[in-house]
Amino acid sequence: MALIVQKYGGSSVGSVERIQAVAQRVHNTVKAGNSLVVVVSAMGKTTDGLVKLANELSKNPSRREMDMLLSTGEQVSIALLSMALQELGQPAISLTGAQVGIVTEAEYSRARILRIETTRMERHINEGKVVVVAGFQGVCSTEELEFTTLGRGGSDTSAVALAAALRADFCEIYTDVPGILTTDPRLVAEAQLIDEITSDEMLELASLGAKVLHPRAVEIARNFGMPLVVRSSWTDAPGTWVTSPKPQPRSLIDLELARTVDGVEFDTNQAKVALLRVPDQPGVAARLFGEIARQKVDVDLIIQSIHEGNSNDIAFTVMTPILKKAEAVASAIAPVLCSQINPKVGEAEVMVQQNIAKVSIAGAGMIGRPGVAAQMFATLAEAGVNIQMISTSEVKVSCVVDALMCDRAVAALREVFEIETSPTPPTPLLPLSSTPLVRAVALDMNQARLAIRQVQDRPGTAAKLFGLLARYNVSVDMIIQSQRCHMVNGLPTRDIAFTVARMDAEAAREMLQEAAGEFGWGEVVLDNAIAKVSIVGAGMVGQPGVAAKMFEALAQHKINIQMIATSEIKISCVVDREQGVKALQVIHTAFGLAGSERIQVPA
Ligand code: ADP
Ligand code: ASP
Ligand code: MG
Repeated sequence: MALIVQKYGGSSVGSVERIQAVAQRVHNTVKAGNSLVVVVSAMGKTTDGLVKLANELSKNPSRREMDMLLSTGEQVSIALLSMALQELGQPAISLTGAQVGIVTEAEYSRARILRIETTRMERHINEGKVVVVAGFQGVCSTEELEFTTLGRGGSDTSAVALAAALRADFCEIYTDVPGILTTDPRLVAEAQLIDEITSDEMLELASLGAKVLHPRAVEIARNFGMPLVVRSSWTDAPGTWVTSPKPQPRSLIDLELARTVDGVEFDTNQAKVALLRVPDQPGVAARLFGEIARQKVDVDLIIQSIHEGNSNDIAFTVMTPILKKAEAVASAIAPVLCSQINPKVGEAEVMVQQNIAKVSIAGAGMIGRPGVAAQMFATLAEAGVNIQMISTSEVKVSCVVDALMCDRAVAALREVFEIETSPTPPTPLLPLSSTPLVRAVALDMNQARLAIRQVQDRPGTAAKLFGLLARYNVSVDMIIQSQRCHMVNGLPTRDIAFTVARMDAEAAREMLQEAAGEFGWGEVVLDNAIAKVSIVGAGMVGQPGVAAKMFEALAQHKINIQMIATSEIKISCVVDREQGVKALQVIHTAFGLAGSERIQVPA
C-alpha cells in the first residue's frame, strides 16, 4: 500500500463532469489499496476571472486582498470534489491550507512554504478518508489566520510540498496534456511526449516558460528526492517521470527556504574570446559557431550583448587548452563575417583573454529572489573583484573574473551564502549516450529587455544596479555586459542589458532612469517586443555544435538574434516578439524533436 499525493489542475476539474471523472480516478486508486491526499486547483479559468474582477475595481489592488480573493477559487473545488467522492461512497474531507496548517512566510502573492502540519491529515487518512486539500494557499500567521498564496501556478508546489511533508511514496500531477512534452503542444503541434527528464533539466525548462510544472515544485522534488510524475487526467497513459538523484536528508522546517544557494563552483581553466562589432544581422552567430563546431571546439558560456548602431559583441569562453584553436577560428572568420554580411560595419575586432575564472553560485532557492544575484555581486565588490562577464539562468549566476581573484571570490561567496562543503570545480557531467542533446524547447513571451548605457566598469557597479532592482523586487534574467568599453569623462564604461518580467518592466525603467544621476549611468532603454526562446538538455554538456545548430535554424528563417545567454544545460536567445513562435517551431524541428503523432490538447 502506498501513500500518494495527486494534484489536479484547473482544466482537470473545470466542470461537474470533470470533477466526477477525477473522483472516479481517486476512488479507483484507493480501491487499489492506496492512501490518498488530493490537491486541487480552482476550476477552469476561475483564478483569471477573479484577477479580472479585481482589476476592474483597482489598478493596483492590495496584495493582501488579492490573496483573500484568489484563495476562494480552490475552496470551491475542494468542497465539490469531496462531495463527488462521497457520492461514490468514498469517505473524503476537504481542507483549506489554513485548516491543514500550511504555514508560509508573510509575503502575500508569492509566499514560500515554511512548514506543513501533518497531524490532522494523518488522522483523516487513518480514518480511511481521502483528504482533499486546496492548492496554492497557506497561512502566514496561525494566530490571526492571514491567508497567503504561493504565486500563479502554485498548486503544483503545494502538492509536492505535501508529499515531502507526509513522506509520501510519490506525487502525481494530473493535467490536460499527456505529460512533459518536447515543447508546448499549443504552439507546436508536433511536440512529443518525453518519458523521463531529470529534475535539473525540468527546473530550467519550467523557469524558461514551460508552464506545465511550477519551478518551485520541481525544486522541492529535487531537494527531497520525491518521485514526481506528470500525467493526463483524461487517459491512463503513464506520463513523464521527473527523476532526481538521492539527496542528503534535510529538514522539513523552512521547507522552501532552507537555502537560497546550494553550492559555489569555480573553474579556473577558462579563457575568453570576444568579437567586437560584428554585424547585427541574422546568420552571424550561426556562421561563427558553425565554424567553431566544425573545428570541434567546445564552447562553455556564450553571451551576445545589445547592439549599438548596427553591430553586436559576441563573447564566449572555452577551456584554456583549446584557446589557440578558438582564437584562430574567430580571427579567420571575423573579417569574413563583416565583409560578406555587411561591409558597412567595418572591421570586427577579436579580443582574447587568458587567466580568467568562472565563479558560480547555484541553487533553485534563488528563483524569484532577485536579492540573491545582487548579493553575489555585492560580495564580489566588497572583496575587490571586478566582474568581466555575467551569465545567469534562474538557478545559477556565473561571473567571469580575473583568475588571480578566484580564491578570494570563492571564499567570500562561501562565507556569505554559508556553504560549508568545500567548493568543487564542476565535475564534467558525462552525458550518457542515450541522453538527447536537447530534451525540450521553451518560449517565454512575458519578458522585456532593459538596456542601460554607459555603466561604470568598476567593482561594485553591478551590485548597486541589481541591488536597486532587488529592493523593488524585480527579478532579473539574462544579464549581459557589453564587451566594448567606452571612455566617459576619462572612466571606462560598458552597457548592461538584462531581461525582466514584462509586468515589472516599465516601473523598473522609470526607477533606473531616476537613479541615473546618482549612479552615473546613461540612458535606460526598454524593449517590450521581445521573446525568449531556449533549448534545454543535459546531453549538450561537452558536445560541440549544439549552439551552432540552434543559431543556424534561426538564421535559415531570417530570424535575428538580439541576445544570447547560456548555462551548462541551456541556451537562450532573445528574438523579436513577432518571430517568437516561429523561432520555437524551427528550433524544435532542427533538433529532430518533432514527431508524426499529434498530441490531443483540450481547447
Ligand atoms: P494545470 O491547470 O493542469 O496546472 P497548466 O495550464 O498550468 O495546467 O499547464 C499545462 C499546460 O502547459 C499545457 O496545456 C501546455 O499548453 C503547457 N505547456 C508548455 N510547455 C509544455 C511542455 N513542454 N510540455 C507540456 N505542456 C506544456
Ligand atoms: N489557481 C491558481 C492559478 O490559476 C493556482 C494553480 O492553478 O496552480 O494560478
Ligand atoms: Mg499549472
